[in-house]
Order: sequence, then C-alpha cells, then structure tokens
Amino acid sequence: MSNSQPVIVVGAGFAGVTAARELTRRGRQVVLLEARDRIGGRTYYTEKLGRKLELGGTWVHWFQPHVWAEVTRYGAELTQSPAPEKGYWIVGGCRHEGTADEMLDLLDTGARALGEDSLRLIPHPYAPYEVEAGSAAEAALLAADKLTVADKIAQLDLSDDQRELLDAFWTLSLSGPTNVGGYLQALRWHALCGGDWLLMFEACATYRLKNGTASLLQAILDDSDADLRLGAEVTAIDHDPAGVRVRLADGSTVAGSAVVVTLPLNALGSITVSPALAEGKQAAAREGQTSQGVKVWARVRGIVPPFAALAPAGHPLQLAQLEYTVDGDSLVVALGADSTAVDFADREAVQEVLRAWIPDIDVVDVAHHDWVADPYTRETWPMQRAGQLTGALAELRRPEGRFFLAGSDYARGWMGFIDGAIESGLDVARAVDAALNS
Ligand SMILES: Cc1cc2nc3c(=O)[nH]c(=O)nc-3n(C[C@H](O)[C@H](O)[C@H](O)COP(=O)(O)OP(=O)(O)OC[C@H]3O[C@@H](n4cnc5c(N)ncnc54)[C@H](O)[C@@H]3O)c2cc1C
Repeated sequence: MSNSQPVIVVGAGFAGVTAARELTRRGRQVVLLEARDRIGGRTYYTEKLGRKLELGGTWVHWFQPHVWAEVTRYGAELTQSPAPEKGYWIVGGCRHEGTADEMLDLLDTGARALGEDSLRLIPHPYAPYEVEAGSAAEAALLAADKLTVADKIAQLDLSDDQRELLDAFWTLSLSGPTNVGGYLQALRWHALCGGDWLLMFEACATYRLKNGTASLLQAILDDSDADLRLGAEVTAIDHDPAGVRVRLADGSTVAGSAVVVTLPLNALGSITVSPALAEGKQAAAREGQTSQGVKVWARVRGIVPPFAALAPAGHPLQLAQLEYTVDGDSLVVALGADSTAVDFADREAVQEVLRAWIPDIDVVDVAHHDWVADPYTRETWPMQRAGQLTGALAELRRPEGRFFLAGSDYARGWMGFIDGAIESGLDVARAVDAALNS
C-alpha cells in the first residue's frame, strides 16, 4: 500500500461528501463508500404527503459558519418556516392555548437562566474542552460537565410551569431525556450564539434550504472527483502505518492510503476495526450519546393558522408546528424525544398525540423515517451526555494512524448540525492530507 492509493471515505452524508471534495481538490483520489442507495445520510429530502419534505436535518443559519460558507459558495436560496401566531402548551397536566408570544414569554425566564453561564464557562465555543490544566476555568468546566440539563433546571428559581416548559424545550432540543443530556451540551449551543437563547432558537429552527438539503449536498459532491459507490456497506477496516484495507458486506475489499469514517457515534460499533480503536473511543461508542427521538410529518385537513406547540417529557411529542400548506391542507412537523413512544407510522396514533394540543385536528396522513432503528444511524442529531464534552470528545477527534473519524458527532462547534458535519469534513480532510504528506 502507498500514499498514492485513494483515500477511502466511509459515508456520504455532509461530512463524507465535504471531506471527499476537499481531498480531491488537494489532488487526492477518493473512493466514497455509502451503504445506502442514496447520499445524504441524516438529511433526506424526499417526496411525501404531497410535496418534497425533509425527513432529517433541515434548518440552517448564518450563525453556523461552515454551512453558511457553502450556501454562499453555491448560491443556495433559503426559505423561512412560518412565524407562529398561535401557541399551544401543556404544563401541570393541562392544555393551554394563547398566542405564540405568550408561550415564549413563559419559556423566556427559564431559558435565559439556563444559558446564563454559557460565555463564562465556554468563552471559546470552537475549543470548548481546551482549557489550561489545573486552572480555575478547568475546575469550573469539569464541575459543570457533571451536570445533566435536568440537574441544572432543578437548581433554577422558577415556577412549576416555567420549569416544566423549560424541560419540554430541552427534551425537544436534546432529542432525548434531560436527565441524560449534558448541561454543557446546552451551554455550547448558547455560546455559539453569543449567549442569546432567542438567537439560538432562531438558528436551530427557522431557515431551510429552498431546494432542500439534497441540492446543497449534490453541489458539494459535484465539485469533487470522488468515486462514489452506493450500496457499499463497510463491515471491517484493517489499518497500519502504511495504509488501510476496507472490507464490504459483499465480501470485496478496497485498499487505500487512509480511511475517513463518518459513522454516527451510536453506529460506530457496527464496524470491526483492526487493530482495535483506543478504549476511549470504544467506550464512547458503547455509551452512545443522548438522542433517541423522532421527527414526524402530518398532513392535516384544512388550513390551520401558523402555530407552535410544546409539551413536556412523558408526552410522545415535545414540539409541533405548521410548516407548509398544500392543496388546501396543512403540513405539520413534530419532534419527540422517544422514537418508540407510539407508532409514528400510524395516522390515528399521531392524530391522538396532536389532539392533546389541538383537539379538533384531523390528520389525513403521516410520514417519517425511524432514524433510531436505522442501522446506519441509531440516533437523530448527536447530543452529548453529561461528562462527554470534557471526557470522550478529545479522544474521538484523535486520529489513530491512518484511521480518522469525521462527522457531526465529533465536531468542535455545531456538533449535531449540518454545520458540524461540514466543519468536521473540512478539518479531517486537512489532517488526512497533512498525514499523507508527512
Ligand atoms: C430528525 C433529524 C432532524 C435534524 N434536524 C437538523 C436541523 O434542522 N439542522 C441541522 O443542521 N441538523 C439537523 N439534524 C442533524 C444533521 O442532519 C446531522 O448532524 C448531519 O446531517 C450529520 O451528517 P454526517 O455526515 O456527520 O452523518 P450522517 O449524515 O449520518 O452520514 C453518515 C453516513 O454514513 C453511512 N453509513 C453508515 N454506516 C455505514 C457503513 N457501515 N458503510 C458505509 N456507509 C455507512 C450512512 O448511511 C450515512 O450516509 C437533524 C438530524 C435528524 C436525524
């Protein structure tokens, strides 16, 4: 094996496609192996319920610098999710209805308080764990990383309703339980937005790509000379200082100078690596991260006014909001923290859940992709558990010989977002090229 052999990139989501573009631009040959019959990974723009919909990653923002650079580079256009007018929320076991602003006002005090220490604890959001050993900053960071979001919420001086709505918001954002998700994970989002929670909320869920995530991803892929192979499921990787040998499920092997693996943390254990990866990486993969949620679309009879709805943990969905209208019906997107809470492919089950907010809502059809059951994903958007920011992240980012991990799960900044996937693809491509040049 030699450095003139191709670099093998495993996975054609945003991280893999970005790494492939960067490496081919540096004159490297790239073989891009994707298990599915499509590119995109956790972004999936496809025809459902009467129009093209995003079943996975969707919203982007100019506060997310890596995806924004790609938006600029390829001239991608944005559209905006409708600003909600009505608000529906469940707290204290009761349904409430008012304006969206009334609901936001109830959330505001707690959301501000939770993010209050973000800039003090994470002054450099792209180097959150790089603090001077033995310093007071390190002690503060380590102490904070012991807390879950639920621990932090319990410390805040809030009314019961404020507390419950804040818990709903972070159950939604973590795509999993607040007693697992790390407090620092929440602070990292705040820190990336200058400590402003409303800006953070806007960055996470307002602007979408007009022609879908697939259009931006395809533009990046078209800018590379990578040899894309679909239906190429990788089962094992042997690596040594001279190169790598990648085995596929069909029994074939591909030899390369280095390998970039972009599998989500919760799916990383599905590939056998030899020699085995460092125990720190294996332990992180075994532990996994927080997210285990669901995103479901519902086609609702008639035109409903733009709304947003929130509900606490225990309710099968934490958020629902109007996204589009189509042929006299409305398309509602909803997110929940437990993909197994009900059968989200069942129209009646989803209708019953939505009726907890809007009693007369009439669901015509539903669509979703079960990312947690999907063997190539096993999670939604990655959200660190308590302890993982100061624990496993640095090890996960450390290459081992010719083996490199890339992806949203291992990003420095907007981990869990399309932006983080692109950031990591850029970072790792540079590191691979440097390693092969040295
Ligand atoms: C429901 C949902 C909603 C989201 N909402 C947003 C949002 O609004 N905004 C935002 O920015 N982000 C959002 N995200 C997160 C965002 O989509 C991801 O962080 C990002 O797309 C991850 O890109 P990636 O390349 O790191 O990983 P992935 O997209 O997961 O790519 C990994 C690739 O590896 C492939 N693969 C896996 N195993 C193998 C194997 N053995 N052999 C070969 N290939 C394999 C997979 O098929 C996949 O294509 C959302 C995610 C989900 C699931």
